[in-house]
Amino acid sequence: MATSPGGQAVPAGACSIREAMAACDLPRLESRMLLSELLGRPHAWLVAHDSDPLPAGVASRFETLARRRREGEPMAYLLGMREFMGHEFHVTPAVLIPRPDTEVLVEQGLRELARLGPGARVLDMGTGSGAIAVSLALAAPQAHVTASDASAEALAVARENARRLGATVEFVAGDWFAALQQEARYDLIVSNPPYVAAADPHLDQGDVRYEPRMALTDGADGLADIRSIAAGAPAWLNPGGTLWLEHGWDQAVAVREILSEAGFRQVNSHADLAGIDRISGGYL
Ligand code: GLN
Repeated sequence: MATSPGGQAVPAGACSIREAMAACDLPRLESRMLLSELLGRPHAWLVAHDSDPLPAGVASRFETLARRRREGEPMAYLLGMREFMGHEFHVTPAVLIPRPDTEVLVEQGLRELARLGPGARVLDMGTGSGAIAVSLALAAPQAHVTASDASAEALAVARENARRLGATVEFVAGDWFAALQQEARYDLIVSNPPYVAAADPHLDQGDVRYEPRMALTDGADGLADIRSIAAGAPAWLNPGGTLWLEHGWDQAVAVREILSEAGFRQVNSHADLAGIDRISGGYL
């Protein structure tokens, strides 16, 4: 038995961090993220210790995760985490993986909350992992944030994220407006609803295949839930209230029309990092 630089005994046949990464047939960044999680060590540590042997238990768990990744499972589900607005959100296959595009919606929400002032009431419809609601609550602690979801499993993930990150969010269960208490009124409603058309081939590609269908598609043309939310929202908004929705790259014109028809004024859109109109909203 040899001795590693760290002083541990190296069992015959054990493979080093470098060898495991070379053998797993994954992009370097991905193998490093998986090993970093399994070993509980940062990337820099892995680089400095790449000739250390992998403990047998870690090696076999790494092989399992690497195989699942090669078969297509999203990194966020394998790691159980995804960063959003600078916070680490726990994610499971019960929730959509938070995307950088959605930060545009949070940033717009925060601008609206700054305008509305302390005590504003916010509703995040279809919260999933809670990424939007929790990020808003953390950045605007004087706001009252409520978050809904039709999936009990998703709500459990969102609640846990709020608890772990120290955000105060009220969670309610149910389908869109049916989740709300009759007398509840809000100043700001935000939502990243399912907006992928049922026939979109992109539902059968990449990470999206592993995400909850009900969070991705309305089972129709991709605008059905957006229509329901826009039509229902005025009854739940205080005067001067505002609604902002995330939508698909090609839906901005249609969503602005839907918002105008529902009675919203000053309807406009904002672009994501790629310069594509990604959220649209308006005011009562
Ligand atoms: N942005 C996601 C995608 O393109 C869809 C999210 C959603 O429907 N809300 O896969």
